[in-house]
Amino acid sequence: MPPHVIIVGGGFGGLHAAQALRSAPVNVTLIDKRNYHLFRPMLYQVATGLLSGDEIAGPLRSILSRQKNVDVLLDEVTGIDASKRIVRLRHRDLPYNFLILATGIRYNYFGHDEWREFAPGLESLGDADLIRGKVLLAFERAEELASSGQAASEIQRQLTFALVGAGTVGVEMASTLAEMSRMALSHDFRHIDPASARICLYEAGPRILPTYPEHLSMKALRHLESLGVRVYTNARVTAVDAGGIVVGGQRIPAATVLWGAGVVASPAGRWLDAPMDKSGKIMVEPDLSVPGHPEVFAIGDTAHLVASTRNLVGIKSRTPMLMPGVAQPAIQEGKYVASVIRRRAQGRPVPAPFWYWDKGDLAIVGRTYAVADLRFARFAGFPAWLLWAVVHIYFLIGFANRLFVVLQWGLDFLTKHRQVRVFPGERPSAENVIDPAA
Ligand SMILES: Cc1cc2nc3c(=O)[nH]c(=O)nc-3n(C[C@H](O)[C@H](O)[C@H](O)COP(=O)(O)OP(=O)(O)OC[C@H]3O[C@@H](n4cnc5c(N)ncnc54)[C@H](O)[C@@H]3O)c2cc1C
Repeated sequence: MPPHVIIVGGGFGGLHAAQALRSAPVNVTLIDKRNYHLFRPMLYQVATGLLSGDEIAGPLRSILSRQKNVDVLLDEVTGIDASKRIVRLRHRDLPYNFLILATGIRYNYFGHDEWREFAPGLESLGDADLIRGKVLLAFERAEELASSGQAASEIQRQLTFALVGAGTVGVEMASTLAEMSRMALSHDFRHIDPASARICLYEAGPRILPTYPEHLSMKALRHLESLGVRVYTNARVTAVDAGGIVVGGQRIPAATVLWGAGVVASPAGRWLDAPMDKSGKIMVEPDLSVPGHPEVFAIGDTAHLVASTRNLVGIKSRTPMLMPGVAQPAIQEGKYVASVIRRRAQGRPVPAPFWYWDKGDLAIVGRTYAVADLRFARFAGFPAWLLWAVVHIYFLIGFANRLFVVLQWGLDFLTKHRQVRVFPGERPSAENVIDPAA
């Protein structure tokens, strides 16, 4: 019998590991609690109505349908018995010879899980639908209040959008919401002016996009402000509830609060009782195996690894780097671990320790502006946006998706319209609307 490889998680790391095991003498079972692979970098476009979910996601089963040595299982892993080499699913156990953990992260509410209810983060397609619904509903509520002559303060609360955390996701969401309110929705309402919406971005640290060089952060900040986003740095959110947030002791009434602050790893480290860093990532060996378990690997956002790097043009850096929580390390680690497993299954020597090909970072700040840090070159503006667009289209799974997205972007570019402006379900009844002031 060929060795059985279980991969938990069909995100960037897990999917690329499975695909890289195509010709290996192993049987693979890919387990995910969702039936789709999600291209997260464009999730904010679903949350803001530019794209629909199926344009940035693909069913794992059909992506892997031609790969005969892979079985896809829709299930949730709840634990691991490493001594028996068994993965625990909800209703059964599955044995493995090799195990790859690629279960990603979740947003961290700094010990205040009760905030999650009022301030959703953008992790899944469900979150994107929920957020789009919340945003559109806030405009609807404001219109309804204005048309019935209600207090201006409550209308303003409905039109205040507070985003917590000014990393890539916060900046992307804030810029897109600002453009949405000033362009796409500008002619849709009779009693309110959507352009008067307040898009407020709060960052606990001293600057936005903290992982970027300072001058790119400053450029992104200036562009955000030109779009009308109000940016507050050194602004720690200390409370979130149905009415809004508290920042620096001051209450900010806001009907929509969106979370993009700290993250915490999935419980994979706890399943194995493995050494973990502060955010719960597993401190892996240089070959990405879990200490004490050479047959178990953790990759992507599940792993804490300091590795040597080369930049886009192949120059080796002098100091090793902590792998950032973005797609590229997950993809490269997935492929690397697949090569380790393939060689071990074939009885061949294992490859040299993992090194990271650091292609740099890109962040979008609106529909035609981005910042690019390619390490050997750093720039902002339309050229960076063009690069972002090309790279993201290239990595999107499936030709049809690529085509639809290009067409949709083209349409948005010409008309400034948002295509997806319906929200799922009915308008919530008054009891359901989170609105203590109403
Ligand atoms: C909104 C957003 C925007 C982003 N934008 C960018 C960007 O522009 N560029 C970039 O490079 N990176 C971006 N990232 C980060 C990037 O998406 C992650 O670093 C990357 O997805 C990590 O890949 P992964 O394979 O480790 O985990 P993921 O891609 O998160 O995949 C984890 C998978 O595991 C599954 N899973 C989790 N727990 C279980 C369980 N118990 N049982 C079964 N299945 C389970 C999940 O359903 C999921 O499919 C963004 C992230 C978010 C949330």
